[in-house]
Amino acid sequence: MGDALHEVELLRVRLPLVTPFRTARVTTTAKEALLLRVRTAAGIGWAECTAQSTPAYDGETIDDARLALRDHLLPRAFAGASLDDVRGHTAARAALECALIDARLRAEGVALAVWLGAGRAAVDAGVAVGLLDDLDTLRRAVAAYASAGYRRIKCKIEPGHDVDVLAAARAELGPGSEVELAADANGSYGPDAALHLFERIGDLALQCVEQPCAPEALAEHVRLVQHVSTPICLDETITSVAVANDAIDRRACDAIAIKVGRLGIGEALRVHDACVRGAIDALPGGMLETGIGRAALLAVAALPGCTRTGDCSASERYFGVDGDLTEPFVIDDGRLRVPTGPGLGVEPIPERLSRYTVARERVTARG
Ligand code: MG
Repeated sequence: MGDALHEVELLRVRLPLVTPFRTARVTTTAKEALLLRVRTAAGIGWAECTAQSTPAYDGETIDDARLALRDHLLPRAFAGASLDDVRGHTAARAALECALIDARLRAEGVALAVWLGAGRAAVDAGVAVGLLDDLDTLRRAVAAYASAGYRRIKCKIEPGHDVDVLAAARAELGPGSEVELAADANGSYGPDAALHLFERIGDLALQCVEQPCAPEALAEHVRLVQHVSTPICLDETITSVAVANDAIDRRACDAIAIKVGRLGIGEALRVHDACVRGAIDALPGGMLETGIGRAALLAVAALPGCTRTGDCSASERYFGVDGDLTEPFVIDDGRLRVPTGPGLGVEPIPERLSRYTVARERVTARG
C-alpha cells in the first residue's frame, strides 16, 4: 500500500462489556482498544489494534503499541521508508497495515474479503464462554448460546476448572449435538498436567483444545499430538508464518487459530496459505474485537482454508444490542455476514466513537 501517509489519529476507546470475560490469564471487564484513523493520498482508513491493556495475553500492551506507532512505525511510514528494521510490536504494525489497506480499498471500491480472495458470503458463528463461578451458570450460558444459533461453543479452561466445565457443557448440548464444543486453555498447563487433562476428556468429542501449553513450548505440543486423540489447535504460539511453518512441519498441532489482529492481514493470509499447503485445519481467532476489528476477522474467516468454525461472534455477545462502535454484527441462522462494502466495510458511528473515546492523539509527518 504505497499511498503517501499524511496524518494518523490514535484513539483509545473503552467499551463496557455486558459481562466480565475471564480466562486462565486475564479477566476483562471493559474492552479497551487503540483505533487508527489514517489519512493518506487515497483517503481515510480505519483499523483496530488488538493489543490489550495488560500484558497477560500477548506481551504487547495498548501503551506499547501507541508508543511504537508514534515513535518508530509512523515516522518511517510518513517518510515512505520500510518498517522492516522495527522488530516486534506486531499488533501495532498489524493495525497500521490494516488502516492503509482500508484507505486504499475504500478508494478503489473493493471489499477486503474480495481483495483477499475470500469467497464466502457468510461464516459460521462461534462463541467463547469465559471461566464462570459455577457450573449451573455455565450450563445456562451454553444453552443460551446454542439457542441463539452459535455453531461452536468454546469454553475457557484452566487447571482445576477443566474436565467438570467441559463435561457440564457437553451434558447441556447433548452427545450428538450439531453445535461443536471446544476448549481453550490459553497456555495454562505444564506438559504432565496437559497429558493428564487429555486422558480425561477423550470421550467428550471436542472439536479441539486450543493452546494447552505455553506459547513457546513447541516440543511439548509435538509430544501431546503424538499421545492424544483430541485435536490440538495452536493460537498464542502462532506469531508469524515462520512459526506456523515450523509447527506444521514438526506436527505440533492439528489446527491453527489465525489471529489477524496479532499477525496483520498480509501475514494472516500467509499463515492461512501455510495451513492449506500443510493440509491442516485453520480457524479464525478472535480478540474481543469491536466492530472495526471484527470486520477484518470476518474477511479472514471467509478464506477457503478456514475449514473449521472459530471465534466469529455477534456484537451483542460482548457489547449488547446497541453497544458496538459500528452497526452491530448479528447472527442470522447461525452465521455472520461478511462485510461487502469497500475496505473493511464498516466505520465507527460518530456518536458511539465520541462516547467511548478516552484519549486521542494526532500524529503528522512533522510530529
Ligand atoms: Mg485462544
